[in-house]
Amino acid sequence: MTSAETVALFDKYVIGNYTRHGVVFSRGEGSLLWDPEGRRYIDLFPGWAVDGLGHCPPRVVAAIREQAGRLLHIANNYYTEPQGLLAKALSEISFGGKCFFCNSGAEANEAAIKCARLWGSSEGRGPGGARRYKIVAMENSFHGRTMGALSATGQKKYHQGVEPMLPGFVHVPFNDLAAAERAVDAETVAILLEPVQGEGGIHVARPEYMKGLRALCDEKRLLLVLDEVQTGMGRTGKWFAYEHYGVVPDLMTLAKSLGGGVAIGAMLGRSDVVAVMKPGTHASTFGGNPLAAAAALATIETIREENLLEHARRTGERLGERLERWRRRFPFVKEIRRLGLMAAAELDRPGGDIVRACIARGVLINCTHETVLRIIPATNVPQDLLDEGLDIVERVLAGG
Ligand SMILES: *Cc1c(COP(=O)(O)O)cnc(C)c1O
Repeated sequence: MTSAETVALFDKYVIGNYTRHGVVFSRGEGSLLWDPEGRRYIDLFPGWAVDGLGHCPPRVVAAIREQAGRLLHIANNYYTEPQGLLAKALSEISFGGKCFFCNSGAEANEAAIKCARLWGSSEGRGPGGARRYKIVAMENSFHGRTMGALSATGQKKYHQGVEPMLPGFVHVPFNDLAAAERAVDAETVAILLEPVQGEGGIHVARPEYMKGLRALCDEKRLLLVLDEVQTGMGRTGKWFAYEHYGVVPDLMTLAKSLGGGVAIGAMLGRSDVVAVMKPGTHASTFGGNPLAAAAALATIETIREENLLEHARRTGERLGERLERWRRRFPFVKEIRRLGLMAAAELDRPGGDIVRACIARGVLINCTHETVLRIIPATNVPQDLLDEGLDIVERVLAGG
């Protein structure tokens, strides 16, 4: 099928809820993609941060093929080896504790919201046995599109037209510890944030802020819930972004690159807290199915075997240097923000045209919040492809 024929199918049969660039992709390998006409693209924003190992990572593809011939899905009232091994692996590379599996970031956050509320209704009751359910979340955050995760999301533009939102969320400015302290009351049960606001434009939590939130949670007996859906799995040069801060969350959510391109989400939590999730309290039909679990296990193995945390740190520094050069060279580049391989250039003007010009020259990047160019390469992006892609973006910025 030609690209034009595929686009025609979408125009006629697929709901138009996405802004799509007029490109069809039919094949990918690492940080490269090809369209049906054979044109090559360098992908510096693979899959909205899903394809953390690039496209079709070989170990993941092999694990899927192997598992597909054995068992695709089984209901969660039985046991399967891949889910058990994945839970063990995630527990071991993070802070211990236990896992619940689902299929997306939004679902992982729904699980965390419910777990926090369940805890606040039982073990985590307030003084005098008061039920606690309120969650302090951040302005400019992004936690997903389902109604609970969307209610946690501190961006009015995503709430418009679908109100009323789920009650019980209080939004305060990000990186403002005093505001979080003021927002906590007798009914508060948790504080929820992304260590780096991704969709919000790569805003990195300051070290003293994250430490202060942990201390606040300890003092008031609240759960610190970290949404690591975008920051997790090596993206920032460590398995999880919280490791940069010397704090440990009580609950953490994962998805995006967890499955190396396959849909999977997870909520990890301190064993004593997640014990409130008893049979009947929560479930997911597809959650932790053997196919997705095998893909996630192969993802973890790839990161380990190929030393990708170290690679992400090194290439991340190189990326940061390149972006700083743009800031010095181009007056309209106002600020560079970065942690590991999550990077953004904030412009003083809309960036949509720049993204489109880059795509026309065969490089994929992203623009969020109108003026923020976002670059999140695969954690295994080869240095030469990263350089080649950034050279092209720089030429576009120079207007050439
Ligand atoms: C993408 C994202 C989500 C939502 O994930 P979906 O898989 O689209 O539901 C939640 N939180 C963060 C931080 C994200 O980046």
